[in-house]
Parts: sequence; C-alpha cells; structure tokens
Amino acid sequence: MTTIRVNRVQCAVCDSVSEQRSLGSTSTFGHPDLDGRPDLLARTTLRFWVQTCPACGYCATSLDDAPAGASEVVHSEAYLAQLHQANTPALANEFLCQALLLESSGDKRGAAAARLHAAWTADDSRDEGLAHRCRTQAADLLLAAPPRPESNAHEDLGWRGWSGVQEVDLYRRAGRSDDARREAERVRRGGVSILVEQLLTYELEALERGDTARHTVGEALGQPSDTTVGGTIEDPLLGYLLRHYGQFATKAEHQAARMNTFKTKDGTRWATEQPELLALLAEGKAGLGRMLERRFLAEHPHEVVLNRCPQCGALARTPLARQCRACPHTWRESAR
Ligand SMILES: [Zn+2]
Ligand SMILES: [Zn+2]
Repeated sequence: MTTIRVNRVQCAVCDSVSEQRSLGSTSTFGHPDLDGRPDLLARTTLRFWVQTCPACGYCATSLDDAPAGASEVVHSEAYLAQLHQANTPALANEFLCQALLLESSGDKRGAAAARLHAAWTADDSRDEGLAHRCRTQAADLLLAAPPRPESNAHEDLGWRGWSGVQEVDLYRRAGRSDDARREAERVRRGGVSILVEQLLTYELEALERGDTARHTVGEALGQPSDTTVGGTIEDPLLGYLLRHYGQFATKAEHQAARMNTFKTKDGTRWATEQPELLALLAEGKAGLGRMLERRFLAEHPHEVVLNRCPQCGALARTPLARQCRACPHTWRESAR
C-alpha cells in the first residue's frame, strides 16, 4: 500500500506557498537492483522523493527547510540551466538540482544519493548516457566523501552490510572496478550477514568479467528476477493450514512459511539468520506443515478439519470440498 499526502508547504528560499505531495508509506514488492533501485512498483513513488518550488525552483526532500546559502545556489546560472535542461526528464533535473544544493552545503553523500536517484529516473526513460553520467558523478562524490559508517543501525541483522553493497554496485556500474573491489573488502571487514556475503561474491564475479550491467538482488541470490521478497508457501499441507486456520499460527510461523531460499556455493540456504525461524524450518516447509498440523489439531480439535480424500488420502482444496484434486474420487458427507 502506498499512501500519498498532500500538504501546503512554504518554501524556505522564497517564502511562497505551494501544494506538494509527499510519500506517507510504501511497501516494496520485489527485489531491488543491487544499487538499491527499487522494483518497478515501488519506483513509481520516486517522483515524491523530491519537491520543487513552482516560484523559485528550489528542489529538496521537503521545501520547508533549506541549508545556509541555498538561495544563492537556486539563483545561480548553473542551477537554473540544470533545472531547465532540455532532453532530460524533469524529475532527473530536479534530483540533479537537489544534488547541486546538497553538494554546496558540504553533504557529499546526500548529493551522491540525489545523483543516483537521477540515474534511476534516467534508467526508466532508457537514457543510458544520462544514467551513466549520473552514476559516474555519484561515484566521484562518494569517493571524495568521508567513509560510510561501519554499522548502520537501520539495517536488519539478516541484511547487515547491505548499504555497503549498494556502494560497491554503484562503483561497478560506473566502471570504477578498483574502487568497487576495495569497497567490497571494506564492507566484508565490517562484518556482513550470509545473504550480503552472497551479494558481495556476486559483485566480485561480475567485476571479474567486466560486467557493468544492471542486476537485481534476486539474481544474485539465484532467484528469478520476478520473485517477490515474501515468498510462496509451496508445501500443500502448510498452505492449507495457513489459508484456512492462519489465525492459529504465530507471526514467526507465518514468516517461516513464506521464507525464500537462495543458492550459495555451499548449497541452498534459507534467507534468514533468525534462530527462531531457522528452528521452525529445520525440516523444511513440509516439516513445518506437519508440526502445525499436530499443534492445530491438539489445540483446536473442534475447529480444525484436515479434509482428506477417503480414497487416496490427498488433501482437498478446502475443509468443505467433496472432490479430490489428486484422483477422480468425489464423496458426500455421509459416504465418507
Ligand atoms: Zn521558492
Ligand atoms: Zn483422492
């Protein structure tokens, strides 16, 4: 679910008031690219990541705040030329103007992020030249910036090191292979999760073959690129139980049931490092299904019905179905 808020915002540069949209919340549906570019559905929200004052052209995440010196930048020739650059998507121009402001305020990392967002916009309008230029400029800014903090408190433990991977990927795609390798080593030294180690290995292999193309996290994990982050349940018994009696399952059991796997050189692994989830999945999804069947039947004997075919034992689609999915048999309540 994506929610968009509409607010009247006063520009911190010229004081004029305009109606601006901002992003309330959004959910990610699929794997991002390795440089963090969101999947297609989430990317439709990019246009709400930057606001532009219709009066003076100030571009910022939120117009009601401006760094010192913003007014001078906004009225400079270079800024106005960028804002009205022909043959460039308007949204890319706005991100690039935001980058100019952030850079002049000394925020090189912020400016690099804004240029990367401009590159994503260029990707979407298939302007490869512009996308490459924006990535190269973003890479230059990051190389000149103070190093990224070693630990990121916002990072999920299972994705420890993910922000570092995005930086490695930016260098790789900007053709800075030496910088990419050096950054990958640095990210590794800071400590990474198993998932992120897999992403780094994938990055290093891509660097080895001189590959500067776009790749997704899903690809790096050996999953088809259209796989969603919340996976499918697969096991029929587990699917049946959660579809009809999901209210009896814990949050962890629901999470475990939808857990994806990914391939590493040492075999297939679950995409989590949470001990609780790994314990639930110790015998696979089928094992989790058998465990839930036992528990649901013991705890809710009058509610839970495992509707199996009297002929072959296969599980029917619903608790009330009278037709087998596995064999031609049909049955009536009385004839079971
Ligand atoms: Zn303004
Ligand atoms: Zn049957």
